[in-house]
Amino acid sequence: MKGPGSNILTINTGSSSIKFSLYKTDDHPVLKGEISRITNPPCQIDIVSAHGSTTLLRKELNIRGFREAAAFIVEWLEEGGYGESIGAVGYRIVHGGPRYREHCPVTEELTEYLKEITHLAPEHLPQGVEVMEVVGGRLPYTFDVACFDTAFHRDMLEESKVYAIPFEFYGEGIMRYGFHGLSYEYITEELGASGEPLDRVIIAHLGHGVSMAAIRDGRCVDTTMGFTPAAGLVMSTRCGDMDPGVILYLLKEKGFSPDGLNTLLNHHSGLLGVSGRSDDVRELLEREGEDERAALALKLFCHSARRFIGSLSATLGGLSTLVFTAGIGENSAEIRERIVEGLEFLGIGLHMERNRANRRVISKDDSPVRILVLKTDEECMMARHTKRIIHREGR
Ligand code: ADP
Repeated sequence: MKGPGSNILTINTGSSSIKFSLYKTDDHPVLKGEISRITNPPCQIDIVSAHGSTTLLRKELNIRGFREAAAFIVEWLEEGGYGESIGAVGYRIVHGGPRYREHCPVTEELTEYLKEITHLAPEHLPQGVEVMEVVGGRLPYTFDVACFDTAFHRDMLEESKVYAIPFEFYGEGIMRYGFHGLSYEYITEELGASGEPLDRVIIAHLGHGVSMAAIRDGRCVDTTMGFTPAAGLVMSTRCGDMDPGVILYLLKEKGFSPDGLNTLLNHHSGLLGVSGRSDDVRELLEREGEDERAALALKLFCHSARRFIGSLSATLGGLSTLVFTAGIGENSAEIRERIVEGLEFLGIGLHMERNRANRRVISKDDSPVRILVLKTDEECMMARHTKRIIHREGR
């Protein structure tokens, strides 16, 4: 491998945060950190040692923007003596556009292309590229790998990818891409490693962003997010699927600008928009007894998830495994129970006590569908991809 060390740094740039982890050879990081509230200062940095046992740094930071945040991370690593241990960096890139559908080494050509397609993911790509440039510039000896959230969905059925608008738009790259791919890859590998059935699987990634993927024999055939992450299920602050007529009406009759619509549909909708109070499932669960809109928002959320389980099961021709993951999926027994209520006809038999106890397997022994709760780990997946590409490229 190029560079002085063999450790892998992963950099996960989100819409307002950068998460990073430093891996030795196995799947367990030496340290994990996050700079949060980058778009809403003061920023906060938190760095913990392996397994979160020791806090290495926790403070407010007087910095502005993603470039400064990325520079701070590299400086901290270098001052802490970790800099020279890093031989490779894996970057999470939300969108690879129509051209980059597989994880790959970072090149100048890729960086330039990503700059040209920032309009495909304006809330993630610009800072993703900025951070890649800053870290790459400060650690010039490392081997860099781009890990795309869209890559996992590249082999979807064509009828899942094409939108039913004039076909020339498909050629221009207006299609369903799908997101949360690193999370789906991690869960799929975990299922494979533990011998779970992989023939007809739905993974429900229920976090701040919410999506589902249908997997047949280990490959993604369909997913709920689309050209952008706003499509599909009702989310914390995103609307999910909606009649395009509503968007036209808001543009024409309500005087919304494109930017105003973006804010409305991506930041002020979903659980937050309907409840008018919170985008956090925990808070809504606490309030639903006395707050009708909190109750309605949760009903809508669960109804939307149930509909998509039905729809993706139809795509798969049945279901062998249903996995819940991410913040809500991993932690909220109440929401899991409400989502699968009435789905016994699909062979989904929830074991109430196992579900309440947050067990790994939460289906009844005689349930035709295995229901699992698995913790996702996108950073670990990035480290694995980086390692594989290092070997593939003979570095
Ligand atoms: P992100 O998509 O930002 O990574 P997470 O996967 O951390 O988000 O999920 C965040 C969501 O998880 C929050 O909306 C929160 O409501 C939900 N959540 C976390 N813990 C719980 C819990 N114990 N019960 C219900 N919801 C939870």
